[in-house]
Amino acid sequence: MIRLALHGGAGDLRADQFDTSAHRAALRRIADEGRRMLQDGATAVATVEQVVVLLEECPLFNAGVGAVLNRDGQPELDAAIMCGVDRNCGAVAGVMRAKSPIRLARAVMERSPHAMYMGSGADALNRELGLDEVTPDFFVTEERFHQLKLAHERGVIVLDHEAAFDDTVAHAPTPPSEDGGDAFGTVGAVARDAHGNLAAATSTGGLTNKHPGRIGDTPIIGAGTFADNRSAAISCTGTGESFIRSGFGFEIHARMSYSHWALQRACDETLAEVQRLGGRGGCIAIDHEGQLYLPFNSLAMYRAWMGADGNLHVGVGPDDVD
Ligand code: ASP
Repeated sequence: MIRLALHGGAGDLRADQFDTSAHRAALRRIADEGRRMLQDGATAVATVEQVVVLLEECPLFNAGVGAVLNRDGQPELDAAIMCGVDRNCGAVAGVMRAKSPIRLARAVMERSPHAMYMGSGADALNRELGLDEVTPDFFVTEERFHQLKLAHERGVIVLDHEAAFDDTVAHAPTPPSEDGGDAFGTVGAVARDAHGNLAAATSTGGLTNKHPGRIGDTPIIGAGTFADNRSAAISCTGTGESFIRSGFGFEIHARMSYSHWALQRACDETLAEVQRLGGRGGCIAIDHEGQLYLPFNSLAMYRAWMGADGNLHVGVGPDDVD
């Protein structure tokens, strides 16, 4: 049974407070492309990569074009991909010149001797492997400059979609523009292909006004991204520090593998641990039998998935699914 889920970030903006139709339409269009690929026999790895490429290209989300900016006004992009067949994986952190961080992550997985690269070395690898290169301004949108200016004024580091503040990472709400056209959220995808193989991919700009060099959970295999055919494929979004501290993706795998918990219980318990650590967010997950689970402890998580009947569904808040 082929299955697919994708996300465009979690946060505490109330979905009924502004117009999310552009985000919903983008998620549906991209989910449709992923579904078509899986129906045509594409592998889970190829599908999650392509879905995330399309999400990176969409300026509505916090990855690739439209990624949030660090303290110095630069995009520093993180991405990772993992194949559930053999736990092969590739990750990049703090890249600024790779046109598609997720394509570079896949190239790391399949065409390099290592699993993870950072910064200028990762951008150099992108060039060596002949992947598309851009200057950092390619990723920058006016909206993101505006958000960085607000974060500077308030002296906060901002998760794109959190409303609460704490002492370490302050989470100011992203003020929605009147047309609801704000960039919003880390992106990710999980898939199960016709052979029953799982894969996960995640890509992000991280946090607005983050310290240069800060790395979130997204490119950390076993935290924000994980896949193993014996358990599940998982892609996260939320306060990265808490997802790293909980070892989110691997924790779900461990609870399923060692305690034989079902996907839902493993996700709920691990998300509760994130909450205990002060974190907010959610994940999209598919288990080895094709069960899907998309939990979040924030007010919203932009998400789309292919139901067991093959139909596509899109949701933002807990109940506003269509
Ligand atoms: N998890 C990402 C990070 O901490 C942020 C997000 O999900 O929006 O870098």
